[in-house]
Amino acid sequence: MRVVVDLNRCQAYAQCCYAAPESFELRGAEILVYDPAPTPEHRGRIERAVQACPVRAISVEFDDTIGTAS
Ligand code: SF4
Repeated sequence: MRVVVDLNRCQAYAQCCYAAPESFELRGAEILVYDPAPTPEHRGRIERAVQACPVRAISVEFDDTIGTAS
């Protein structure tokens, strides 16, 4: 699994941090750090983070698909 956050789009709403705190973290007011290659057991929470992001900044690539929440 590969995670990419469009940091130009990210507005630091932190919804991803609530959905998947082990994978996304806000440092300071608006610097998002994240795990670009989370392990498979985090998939459910990563998917919730994708859905939760108000500006659709998170893209996830699984084994066979690339997608953003829609
Ligand atoms: S939910 Fe979206 S906008 Fe908010 S910090 Fe996460 S990636 Fe950025």
